[in-house]
Amino acid sequence: MIELRKTIGLQIMQWSELFAHERRLLEFTIAARRYASAPYSHYTVGAAILWKDGEISSGCNIENSVYNVLHAEKCAIANGISGNGIRRIAKIAVRGGPETDERPLPVRDLPDDEFQYLASQVKFENVSFACGQCLQDIYEYSGGEPENVGLLICKNSGLAIRSTLADILPGRSMFTADKNIHRKQ
Ligand SMILES: [Zn+2]
Repeated sequence: MIELRKTIGLQIMQWSELFAHERRLLEFTIAARRYASAPYSHYTVGAAILWKDGEISSGCNIENSVYNVLHAEKCAIANGISGNGIRRIAKIAVRGGPETDERPLPVRDLPDDEFQYLASQVKFENVSFACGQCLQDIYEYSGGEPENVGLLICKNSGLAIRSTLADILPGRSMFTADKNIHRKQ
């Protein structure tokens, strides 16, 4: 037997370590989350996408009584494509949680000892950037280069966590985006 294993990378950062465009994306997630309609799960989510051409689109989760749920990531993709056509995704930020727990983004870094402690408590299995279906949907607009698609969250604790689609979705379905030339543009 030959076993192959993959290393997953997470970057755990202070607020000041984020790029300016990442802080802006997270601000878009806060604004989008306010429009979420989640009367069944009471879990509200905002997502914001930075497309390769520099445009930002955002979305929120929308639920209905027949469980035809629109996730915030898909909503942000749909808003971006319906507004400006199919392009490649550069980065997506997501922020969600119970509707009663909408906290503002951090305005400054955590004290270093608090940051070190909280970062040491992060577990891979508890870091959720998006559900499997949304990750696959994001891959459709990666141009077949998931290593160049950034994923970003900012936890209520103030920790920001960054990774790539290639890290988080290693077992993706390969039969569409890689072969679809118009999505490589
Ligand atoms: Zn999803």
